[in-house]
Amino acid sequence: MADLPTLPPAARPGDALTAIDTPALVLDLDAFERNLDAMQAAATAAGVALRPHAKAHKTPAIALAQVQRGAVGICCQKVSEALPFLQAGITDIHISNQTVGPAKATLLARMARHGRFSVCVDHAQQVADLAAATAAEGSTLRIFIEIDIGQGRCGVADAPAVLRLLEALAPHPQLHFAGLQAYQGGVQHVRGHAQRRDAAARAAERTAAVVAALAAAGVACPVVTGGGSGSVEFDLASGVYTELQPGSHVFMDGDYGRNEAGTALRFEHSLFIASTVMSVGGGGRCILDAGLKSLAVDSGLPAVWQDGAPSTTLAYTAANDEHGIVRLADGAAAGATLPPLGSQLLLVPGHCDPTLNLHDQLVVVRGGVVQALWPVAARGLSR
Ligand code: PLP
Ligand code: MN
Repeated sequence: MADLPTLPPAARPGDALTAIDTPALVLDLDAFERNLDAMQAAATAAGVALRPHAKAHKTPAIALAQVQRGAVGICCQKVSEALPFLQAGITDIHISNQTVGPAKATLLARMARHGRFSVCVDHAQQVADLAAATAAEGSTLRIFIEIDIGQGRCGVADAPAVLRLLEALAPHPQLHFAGLQAYQGGVQHVRGHAQRRDAAARAAERTAAVVAALAAAGVACPVVTGGGSGSVEFDLASGVYTELQPGSHVFMDGDYGRNEAGTALRFEHSLFIASTVMSVGGGGRCILDAGLKSLAVDSGLPAVWQDGAPSTTLAYTAANDEHGIVRLADGAAAGATLPPLGSQLLLVPGHCDPTLNLHDQLVVVRGGVVQALWPVAARGLSR
């Protein structure tokens, strides 16, 4: 058994993009860095803290690049997801979500011994679980009370409910009230720029009303955190948020690409699936090696990308587990042909977050040359 092969890497630094063994998740480093720089510059100019969401990338190398540019820390959506980031040296992590039960509270309380951690609550039982775990572990947590500002997901309804949760927090000095989380996911994907601006304004108004009611009751909210890639330009200007949590802007997936962008803050596609034509079937179609196990289709099928722009010739029309079917696009020029067997095609996935969760590594490319492989270390960590 001694000469059994091991799996070779998909690529090595110095390889050409076209030589990557596919399917592979590819990051265009130039576009990615411009996205990070644009987001940090906008936050800095507005005097708002940037705490980018790491659930989009699950990649410690990206979190470190964000913190190096000025991010105050990161968000994670799950407790276990935070662990690889802490191990990589990211020590300021907000769990932008609720947890219940001793297992998660205990892991969070243990991690909190090594950094500045926070988490959301919207029920006294969550407070009790966190209080017990932090007391046992001898750690402290910053607590955000989440309010529902229209998404209809987690969060309490109003300021009186916030005040009731503050009473539940009061007996536990190791749990510090840090402020409010107010996130409205539905706003992010409103397509029209003006409509999205109006939807973000309504969400910010609901947030401001709760902050004002709490102030009238003598309660200050040091931090108001929320926002995502689709609303961030409006949230920055709202005067309501002190901290923003965009995630997908680093990649700009196909779904965000369908939003009408404004002029203030624009992001570029930096994330691609490199795939290969592995069969040309019976003609009239070609078959790629990238299907459902390489990309998420909950926000639509991927776009085929050619010469730095969406292809007007080729359309990805169906995804099987390990096959992608490509045909000539409606409206392709007369005489257009399908790519031959062995051709590499780049795809822009519809939704970045679940796509990242399908891959162990990002192949990082600049100018068509592989620079590095970045482990997607938090892949699969959904507990
Ligand atoms: N904050 C919370 C609580 C979220 O659930 C999300 C995404 O769903 C984000 C921030 C980041 O959003 P996006 O990746 O769309 O920028
Ligand atoms: Mn998403």
